[in-house]
Amino acid sequence: MKKLCVIGWPVRHSKSPILHNAMLGALGLPYEYGIVPVEPGHLEEFLAFAKENHYAGFNATMPFKEALLPFLDEIDPLAKKLGAVNTVCIKNDKLYGYNTDCPGYAAALRQEGFQIAGKTALILGAGGAAKAVALGLCQAGAKRVLLANRTAEKARQAAALCPEVCQAVSWDRQSLCSAAENAELLVNGTSLGMAGQGEFESFEFLAALPENAWVSDLIYHPAQTELLRRAAALGHRTMNGLPLLVHQGILALEHFTDTPLDPGEMVPVILNALEETP
Ligand code: NAP
Repeated sequence: MKKLCVIGWPVRHSKSPILHNAMLGALGLPYEYGIVPVEPGHLEEFLAFAKENHYAGFNATMPFKEALLPFLDEIDPLAKKLGAVNTVCIKNDKLYGYNTDCPGYAAALRQEGFQIAGKTALILGAGGAAKAVALGLCQAGAKRVLLANRTAEKARQAAALCPEVCQAVSWDRQSLCSAAENAELLVNGTSLGMAGQGEFESFEFLAALPENAWVSDLIYHPAQTELLRRAAALGHRTMNGLPLLVHQGILALEHFTDTPLDPGEMVPVILNALEETP
């Protein structure tokens, strides 16, 4: 059996082993996927351990997505642009880094039936996930991507990733409402609404969205955030963070195993496994 794992701190809660082992089982591929908690500051030790123990690769979550970059032998151009990797393959003792959150979000939207090309999106947040989504939307042909973040400078930096399409907007209520007026897709990329985190002070921007706009939350715990509940009540089509989790995982497994996967086949396998595991 070849070894794969997810690293992070904290990481015990990660759903990656469920997701990957379900796909590997369904495909009959000889890999096992585990969890390796790595304390901040111990990344180099883990990399030596992974090479010595012949790991085929690993996924990385907080706080290693950016910290890994200097240790990689090759970085995929998209991951390099973002400055973050979530997937690392180990081949002949060399480390190859990718970011599957970025194409994963576009793949998730596509599979849910949202056509990104030519559309305008408003992203709330400018952290790691929001930046990956912004770049993913640009790559998929979005006409305009507006980014609003509590810390304005981070929204400006995120918008600079793709200045022809992205623009930073202010976080105040009035600016959010004006930006929402033309948005065909609203994405919550902040941690607001996540179990144990804070909540939006106002949802006024939802009322400003066009009637047929989609509302997407990157959060999947809880499965329906207050934002999605209110958006659905206003008649908007909603999507939580699960499709992103699923599609970034499918793309990561393609890198690990060098095997093209059919998302149509893999999505039900993963959803069943997640449903069966508390
Ligand atoms: P991050 O890099 O730490 O970014 C956090 C974001 O939330 C920043 O934009 C931050 O704004 C904002 N924020 C936090 N508290 C806030 C508050 N009280 N008011 C306004 N804004 C606030 O985290 P991340 O990795 O991007 O994750 C963001 C969310 O995406 C999390 O909920 C995470 O669970 C979710 N996520 C989902 C998936 C998936 O597979 N579905 C993958 C990755 C992440 P500032 O810059 O001003 O601090």
